[in-house]
Amino acid sequence: MTTATIDRSAAQSTDNVWQMAQRQLDEVAALIDLNPSVHEYLRYPKRVLEVSVPVRMDDGEFKVFTGYRVQHNMSRGPSKGGIRFHPDVTLDEVKALAMWMTWKCALVNIPFGGAKGGVICNPKAMSMQELENLTRRFTTEISIIIGPEKDIPAPDVYTTPQIMAWIMDTFSMQHGYSIPGVVTGKPISIGGSQGRDKATARGCLYVIDEAMNSLGIPIQGARVAIQGFGNAGLHAGELMAQRGYTIVAASDSRGGVYRERGLNVAELIAHKEATGSVVGFEGSEPISNRDLLACRCEVLVPAALEKVITEENARDVKAKIVAEAANGPTLPEADDILFERGIMVLPDILANAGGVTVSYFEWVQDLQNNFWEEDEINKRLKQIMTRAFAETADQARRYNVDMRRGAYAVAVSRVAEATAKRGLYP
Ligand code: GLU
Repeated sequence: MTTATIDRSAAQSTDNVWQMAQRQLDEVAALIDLNPSVHEYLRYPKRVLEVSVPVRMDDGEFKVFTGYRVQHNMSRGPSKGGIRFHPDVTLDEVKALAMWMTWKCALVNIPFGGAKGGVICNPKAMSMQELENLTRRFTTEISIIIGPEKDIPAPDVYTTPQIMAWIMDTFSMQHGYSIPGVVTGKPISIGGSQGRDKATARGCLYVIDEAMNSLGIPIQGARVAIQGFGNAGLHAGELMAQRGYTIVAASDSRGGVYRERGLNVAELIAHKEATGSVVGFEGSEPISNRDLLACRCEVLVPAALEKVITEENARDVKAKIVAEAANGPTLPEADDILFERGIMVLPDILANAGGVTVSYFEWVQDLQNNFWEEDEINKRLKQIMTRAFAETADQARRYNVDMRRGAYAVAVSRVAEATAKRGLYP
């Protein structure tokens, strides 16, 4: 490949997540002296599909939703990544999330590239029937580019195992036979994997444990604040409490709760299941999002959406470790501030990679029709996460950079190697 010129002028601002993702790549490209042609190649998604999704609503009318599936890279294998249902989905966001999936799969060294999907909708305001109609039609619209050997969706923000079941069924009905490997995060009864529901949280716990050990902070009683009490955050709270951490704060889209001596996580989960939110949990005091990010704790776990830790609030963070259970919660400017202040950020592509790792196990089990016990899943997950942490820390030390750049150095090198080896077609 010959040298290409790269216009980076658009990649300097970070109020746009796609520009933020490109900027993260650009910085690491310079750090590891990445071949400029490969760099240029990796700066863009391989394929972008925008679809209109007509859905029959409960009142009998049609409503047309917009959805996307973006495939960033397939050099190391079929592309992989979740589908999010959220009112704020944008194409740029899905492009960023797809690129991050490429690095995430490479960092944990599973044979996948990166993709992501999203539908602009408010699932909280839709009935089950409307959600099913939306999911089935969206699946049909993107069926031309997904498949077990091509691109394999999974859950993400506000998408559930039930939604994965509808994706699997729709794709299977169109082909005339069951194809469980087309999607992961399915219910166990139709080819889902043991441990997938808690995999993102469990992987996050494993790398937090590693970070605590490397910094010499005792785990027992270490205080944790969780921003976002959804699938990742809720299970992280549960597993961390079982491990001996003290969960002092938790929040969701409606508000947050705080208790200095620690929240009873099992009861908090029951409260969230009963009321739909953590707000109003007995024995706790309310806490704002801003105060939660700044509260006294050893570990801060942003587990909701992007752009939460910014230049404005990064100086207020008191945690020693920020573990990104969410994708893209820390802006690059904030990364630099946290690094200067000696706070270790466990980047999304490491901290939340447990989800896609067990998705990989699920896909392997589906293709082989041979299912593993949960112990086996967790043991393999732990091996992969601890190795990825060690490789990340190693590169961070080598280049004297933060853990995000360390993780990118590992991941981007792997993707670049595969891309260069395959060469350019034609
Ligand atoms: N949506 C999850 C993520 O961002 C999981 C993706 C997958 O399992 O394919 O990593």
